[in-house]
Amino acid sequence: MIAINPLNIIEIAQTHYQAIRNYLANDKKDKKKLDKINQNIKTHFGEAYNLEKIILATPRELKELAIEENKNKSVFKENYYNYLSSNKFYTIDNQYYRGSNIIESLGIRVCPYCNRNFIYNLNKKRATYQLDHFYSQTHFPFLALSFFNLIPSCVTCNGLLEKKDKEVKVNPYDEMFPFEKIRFELKILKPDFYYNKDSFDIVFDLSHLNPQQQADFQTNIDIFHLELHYKTHKSYVLQLIQRNLTYSEAYIQELYEKFGGTVFENKEQITGFINENIDKNFYLRPLSKLTHDIAKELGLI
Ligand SMILES: [Zn+2]
Repeated sequence: MIAINPLNIIEIAQTHYQAIRNYLANDKKDKKKLDKINQNIKTHFGEAYNLEKIILATPRELKELAIEENKNKSVFKENYYNYLSSNKFYTIDNQYYRGSNIIESLGIRVCPYCNRNFIYNLNKKRATYQLDHFYSQTHFPFLALSFFNLIPSCVTCNGLLEKKDKEVKVNPYDEMFPFEKIRFELKILKPDFYYNKDSFDIVFDLSHLNPQQQADFQTNIDIFHLELHYKTHKSYVLQLIQRNLTYSEAYIQELYEKFGGTVFENKEQITGFINENIDKNFYLRPLSKLTHDIAKELGLI
């Protein structure tokens, strides 16, 4: 699992809110729709709340709102998603705004829950992802359009969520969660691990998290079957191990002398070729977090 944290995320969330707000404010059948919703929110959550606060609630605020709502489940029955079910929100410049805008603006290309499957808009009607409601529409309808409650995810992960009996604990947008402290790790079982993929395992190292964070992240691992999924990528990890053993500094130098200026522009391109050109934008390429962590453990980067 990886974080979704582009630098302009606040701006993207603001555009999302503006689109919804404009749609409500310009409703031809009910000129007071926006006012009514804001009033409804104040009545239920208190004077300090309005549509903007609900739509732009941070992951931590969403959690508080969800806990509060669990206490008062019968009080609030408004379903904003039904209010807005046409899915044709207008942005400021009168362009339609849909779920597909979110993934385009975020620039995310890989499912944040599994970091295995590509997610993208194929064309205007088809996409390889779904927007998961971190807090479900059924139990928390008033959070159905909150920006940080909408997680672009692959069909596999979202499908697992539909059958879940537990709640996902870690929100990929949660900037307070220390994603950088989680690592994939090789667990060596037998000395022939460098050519036998049955001789090692891929495990999550959560030891740098505090106990609560460990428990929360473990819940995510369990819900998305991440350990099982990653077992299927052992052949790929074996290649990384073998590259580590065969591409010594001297060999890289030899490759550079032989292919520098023809196949490779510079020495960095050779090391990039060895370690899959991994950078820290994990949401751009499948398995990038796994590749990064294992390459680091092996001393490739
Ligand atoms: Zn996924």
